[in-house]
Amino acid sequence: MSIRFQIEATNGAGRLGRLITPHGVVETPVFMPVGTLASVKGVAQDLLEDLGVQILLGNTYHLYLRPGVDTVRGMGGLHGFMSWDRAILTDSGGFQVFSLTELRKVNEEGVTFRSHLDGSSHFFSPESAIEAEIGLGADIIMAFDECTEFPAERERVRASMELTLRWAERSKKHFDEHKRRVPWGTSAQHSALSIEPKQSGESPPAVPRWAGTLPTTGATQSLFGIVQGGMDLELRRESAERTVEIGFPGYAMGGLSVGEPRAVTREIVESTLQYLPIDQPRYLMGVGTPEEIAAYAALGVDMMDCVLPTRAARHGLLFTSVGKVSIKQARYANDAGALDPACGCRVCARYSRAYLRHLYASNEVLAQVLNTVHNLSFYLDTMRRVRHSIRLGEGTGFLSGVSSQPKP
Ligand SMILES: [Zn+2]
Repeated sequence: MSIRFQIEATNGAGRLGRLITPHGVVETPVFMPVGTLASVKGVAQDLLEDLGVQILLGNTYHLYLRPGVDTVRGMGGLHGFMSWDRAILTDSGGFQVFSLTELRKVNEEGVTFRSHLDGSSHFFSPESAIEAEIGLGADIIMAFDECTEFPAERERVRASMELTLRWAERSKKHFDEHKRRVPWGTSAQHSALSIEPKQSGESPPAVPRWAGTLPTTGATQSLFGIVQGGMDLELRRESAERTVEIGFPGYAMGGLSVGEPRAVTREIVESTLQYLPIDQPRYLMGVGTPEEIAAYAALGVDMMDCVLPTRAARHGLLFTSVGKVSIKQARYANDAGALDPACGCRVCARYSRAYLRHLYASNEVLAQVLNTVHNLSFYLDTMRRVRHSIRLGEGTGFLSGVSSQPKP
């Protein structure tokens, strides 16, 4: 038992679903906030719960370097370590390692890379990356892949895709042999596959979550495969079909949003989706703006993640119903209005643009917190509206309005 995926309604290609994980139900299509180092920068876990976050993402590369997999495993995995009872997904480290272009060396066996922290040398193979992901204990983990650089020659893209397919088989084999070693202790008392998302305001557990000794319920993690193939539609199709042949409970599209034009990303996604099983979750990695995530959901993508809302917030760039606001600008210095009058978040309900601008200009820590809370709320609300539209079957409403926006 690992995950179950139920589709409850469809609207065109868009699907409304429930992804039932060992740590709660995730309503899809879902946007997953990124918590690179077991922390969504600036936002505490109880606030994430209040915002309605049902799943967040951790980065294996960063957690492997600091604090180290053994430390996290010893605390009951990420759930125990960061005190987060809801679902978690980890990437395999592949994308991060491949973004260290100057610091890595790839061969059939795996990737040798240097830490961006201290220059120390490390090695990731499909086996060791999966081992790290088992130790981190996320509900959903990703196969170790090669994220093909862009631009790249077709032969290079093919070779990279073939390598990712061989690594997908090795990832799966290692996972199947070792998945029983997931470090869930008491966290697995949220037993498996039947619970609803937790409401905020529940009393905290009497003992630290990692300290428990209850037997696990037999629930395990789920390993997703990743489709590569660069910007080549045929190679994407072949990658999708052969990854599906290997067999995973869910599939991701990787290697996108790496510098290609947005129209190309969209074309690849739309084309690739038709080769992925209709009854399994489909995850588009590392995308995008609020308009894009709504548009991809309308195309039939179920899961997305991106650092954009959190990273942009820390730079004073805020997404609103009337477009982007750069809160650092002097024009907001005496603006008593809400950041986004149409946003129901706690920041927009309470603070003025003038105050937010002041906090940012003064480099107050609170600026990062409030900006991040708003941006995350805006993304989560966007997906709530998408789900609502799919449920109501509003074919000409919100979804089509978003997806018909001009491409940048
Ligand atoms: Zn807001």
